[in-house]
Amino acid sequence: MLIVDADKCIGCGVCEDSCAFGAIVVEDGLAVVGDSCTLCGACVENCEVEALCIEGGEKAVQADLSAWSGIWIFAESRHGEIAPVAFELLGIGRKLADQRGVSLTAVLFGDHVQEVASELISAGADQVLLAENPALAQYREDVYGRVLERLVQEYKPEVVLAGATAIGRSVIPQVATILGAGLTADCTGLEIREEDGMLLQTRPAFGGNIMATIECPHSRPQMATVRPNVMARAEADSSRTGEVVEVALDDDLLASRVEVLEIVVSSEERVNIQEVEALVAGGRGVESEKGFELIGELAEVLNGAVAASRAAVDAGWVSYPHQVGQTGKTVSPKLYIACGISGAIQHAVGMQSAETVIAINRDKNAPIYDFATYGLVGDLFEIVPLLIKKIQEQRSV
Ligand SMILES: Cc1cc2nc3c(=O)[nH]c(=O)nc-3n(C[C@H](O)[C@H](O)[C@H](O)COP(=O)(O)OP(=O)(O)OC[C@H]3O[C@@H](n4cnc5c(N)ncnc54)[C@H](O)[C@@H]3O)c2cc1C
Repeated sequence: MLIVDADKCIGCGVCEDSCAFGAIVVEDGLAVVGDSCTLCGACVENCEVEALCIEGGEKAVQADLSAWSGIWIFAESRHGEIAPVAFELLGIGRKLADQRGVSLTAVLFGDHVQEVASELISAGADQVLLAENPALAQYREDVYGRVLERLVQEYKPEVVLAGATAIGRSVIPQVATILGAGLTADCTGLEIREEDGMLLQTRPAFGGNIMATIECPHSRPQMATVRPNVMARAEADSSRTGEVVEVALDDDLLASRVEVLEIVVSSEERVNIQEVEALVAGGRGVESEKGFELIGELAEVLNGAVAASRAAVDAGWVSYPHQVGQTGKTVSPKLYIACGISGAIQHAVGMQSAETVIAINRDKNAPIYDFATYGLVGDLFEIVPLLIKKIQEQRSV
């Protein structure tokens, strides 16, 4: 809690100016704290008369941070198959573990998943903590959260990484809250600071306009989520060896309030834009749902899939699973054709790691060209049909 010492406060307003959240205002010569205070401490640091202080656990330093050691990644799996993001986490996890000189552990939950544990070792893990039980066969937030929290308490890793997937985004905040640990969501960069071994967690902030580097100096573990397709996966090496440790699970951990009655695969998710090699993306310039039929035709001749900017999704021309960008998916296909998309930073963060980007825009100054390998300046309704025709001609030769 942020406390204002009324005897010391001189109502100078420095705290008000230093608060990025508008949570502190000076009223009648005294600083007053509002509900949007995040306890970031910026006002405390800037107050020259020391009239502000934070009381309570949030800033309390855990007794012994050095008792926490090792890098963990949560190896998400569904129906016995490890999610691609787990291998990407192993790629960055390996680098962090080597820098810290500690071991890299993959935590795997499921039922009859032992045989896939070796894939995690080939991809860089030194150890796999295997929690196997029929109660873990399907994802249930309460059970997964309880088991993960108990394992973290027992083994005390200094870093826990997870994918920013639907599962990671629901279970990891729960675990971080129970542990009182810091958590940075959607990191695009992770590195170790050499001087003190701190995990530096970088992510876009303020609508993608700045990159913020966040550290958690007061608590352990340091927790972060990373979106799929952001980190490079490590090359698999089947000669790597490692240890698979089966963890014992008490019944009290496995009880759930949730019963899974049926699993229905959404028709929207049958094509996952994060897994195809060619994407044809449409933006506001496509103008309508009908316009997206043309985008779909080009995607089809390329054996690819349709993607979209948020403007096109918000307009209802295409559904959310197709959205690329900060609040959509991060993709890294071999080919990304952006049609009628301006190239706002919030869109670019989702597609800039594509191997080849072709931009079609009638505005030659559109920012999308900054991210493009090739640019076609003109009307997409003229260019796209020509492209389709050319590709079809090439195919029939
Ligand atoms: C917090 C936050 C999160 C966001 N997250 C996302 C996100 O995840 N993904 C995302 O995409 N956006 C996101 N946005 C929105 C983003 O800022 C942009 O508003 C959005 O990307 C614009 O979409 P657009 O490029 O389709 O539309 P516009 O910016 O309107 O661009 C349309 C382009 O089409 C061109 N054009 C028009 N007609 C034609 C034609 N006939 N032929 C060729 N070119 C034509 C125009 O020249 C223009 O460049 C987010 C914004 C915020 C604040």
